[in-house]
Amino acid sequence: MKSRIKVLSAAVMLLAAHQATAGDTKNQAAIDRALGVIQQNSSTFKLSTASSSSAKGLGIASDALPTNTTSGDQFKAKDVIVDRDGTEHVRFNRFYNGMPVIGGDTVVHSYHGQLKHASLSQTAPINLTQGTTGAGITAGDAKANITAATAKSIAVKNFGGTVKEVLTPKLVVFARNIKPTLAYQVSVSGEESSLTNSAQKSPKLSLLYIAANSGALIGRDEQIQHMSAPPTTPPSTTPASVVATTGTGKTLLIGNVTLDIGKSTDALSQTTTYYLIDPSRGNGQVKDAKNVAPPTTTTGYDNLTKSASSFSKSTNTFGSGTTSDRASAATDIAYGVAKTWDFYKTLDRKGIFNDGKGVTTYAHIGTNYFNAFWQDYTKSMYYGDGNSANGTTAVVALDVAGHEMSHGVNSATAGLAYDKDAGGLNEGNSDIMGTLVEFYSATTAHPANYLIGEDLYTTKTNADGTPKAMRYMFKPSLDNFPIQLSDGTTTNFGSFDCLPAGGFANPKILQLKPGAYNVSSIDAYDPHNTSGVANHFFYLVTEGAVVPTGFTSKLTAKDLVCNGDTTVKGIGRDKVAKIWYKALTQYFTSGTTYAQARTATLNAATDLYGATSDEYKTVAAAWSAVSVN
Ligand SMILES: [Zn+2]
Repeated sequence: MKSRIKVLSAAVMLLAAHQATAGDTKNQAAIDRALGVIQQNSSTFKLSTASSSSAKGLGIASDALPTNTTSGDQFKAKDVIVDRDGTEHVRFNRFYNGMPVIGGDTVVHSYHGQLKHASLSQTAPINLTQGTTGAGITAGDAKANITAATAKSIAVKNFGGTVKEVLTPKLVVFARNIKPTLAYQVSVSGEESSLTNSAQKSPKLSLLYIAANSGALIGRDEQIQHMSAPPTTPPSTTPASVVATTGTGKTLLIGNVTLDIGKSTDALSQTTTYYLIDPSRGNGQVKDAKNVAPPTTTTGYDNLTKSASSFSKSTNTFGSGTTSDRASAATDIAYGVAKTWDFYKTLDRKGIFNDGKGVTTYAHIGTNYFNAFWQDYTKSMYYGDGNSANGTTAVVALDVAGHEMSHGVNSATAGLAYDKDAGGLNEGNSDIMGTLVEFYSATTAHPANYLIGEDLYTTKTNADGTPKAMRYMFKPSLDNFPIQLSDGTTTNFGSFDCLPAGGFANPKILQLKPGAYNVSSIDAYDPHNTSGVANHFFYLVTEGAVVPTGFTSKLTAKDLVCNGDTTVKGIGRDKVAKIWYKALTQYFTSGTTYAQARTATLNAATDLYGATSDEYKTVAAAWSAVSVN
């Protein structure tokens, strides 16, 4: 791994406003009750004070913008969850004068129409007329001082890579962690600039938010927005009459495994063909991307979808255990996808979108590409082959599948953003769920642990004899990656053990030694670094301040906590999985901060175990031990 910044990037997730899981009458009644709760608690939900403003229900979310652009706050339901005791959790996206409100999403928690909690990160009502003067484009009562063309050029300058495609800017209200501001949302895609030159660039699809008054860059998401032109679901290439059967996968990383696969028998010739399709898990399938480079435009993804091929055979054994057979890596992936599906089933979730449908996964993306990513434009996962010359293997380990699919679960639920604290929680969520999948699967050839990506290196130990991994959940700063700065000093571009004062609210730009790297500066608050705080919390709440095997010569219990409290005792993975999943799906919103994540997980612990329970107290102690108070 030459360039740390490329590792396991979530890269490309879009706010696709997925179809809510159930649009039945029962859900509609819950949505109507929640809208009533918003109306009754207008200051809690930061409703704008415009006389015409009201909590207008827009029904179950679709990909389209609301056609009713009456002024005021409008809400579209994204998800409805009803607890056994009748408590309702209804998640909404917010719109204002027909514009999406980025960071205005909210969850209404109510019981019999009475507010229990409000989850939101919007801090003030929208009041766009204030301070917006001058000539420019108008949208409703809001005025923009800079043109869309100016916003576009500012976005291109701030992209941080080679630009391949810029979509037409559109006006939105940006309300994530700042005072709601009229902004242009500009979708820019291309290739990421990495620290060092590498054979294969990573794709980058960013949404940049440019303040319509000042032209300042006020936010960004590493994802692509297609709300106005939603992607059509790729035509299913599942051959007709494929039925469930079992087969053998000869994997690259974990030996031979039994796989649930599909078969179809030709009526005329009576010949049977086997496919890496899993009818018992919603017809998810693994395809061969044929080493097409990671696309840098939406058209590129469309073309890849068409050019990829299914893995099919006349026998039910796929792969050979080596890279000489292209199906080998695909069987590692198929196994990881199945175990991830089964793990989420224990939490009552049926697939990434909770709709019972499997997704398509692509093996062999790019050439020697050492990364894997989830892409919500195609609702698919992509896995690279790694580069044996650099000491890396195909990026198909079990915890990687769990990691990438969990980016999809986040985008279907909380929609945690990809910057500031929320970016760290987003990456942390994927590492946490990936680790839980690893433990759940109990795969002998892939012993579960609190390391991320430990299978991806051909050398298994560090110089000091400790196991080598991309990330270490119990002591995130062990992922030491020294970089040289312009002032001649060296610093660690790595993960955070503890939340710094003030959190990760603003980027921390490091100026690099001139000529030493491919880029002149880098943000120390990359989500793969800020996730350290969430990963660290997860380890402590699960296992307590106990140094894991293999690290006892290097670390003490005191090294595992930020506040000296080595008395933190773990409550175990099963309970933590339930608490974290409930927080993610019911209490987190797109702009959740670390402090709000503490409250959210405590709310979840209260719901599940009570406010005086050991579970509640341990969640609180574990957050305190990573400086989140
Ligand atoms: Zn990730």
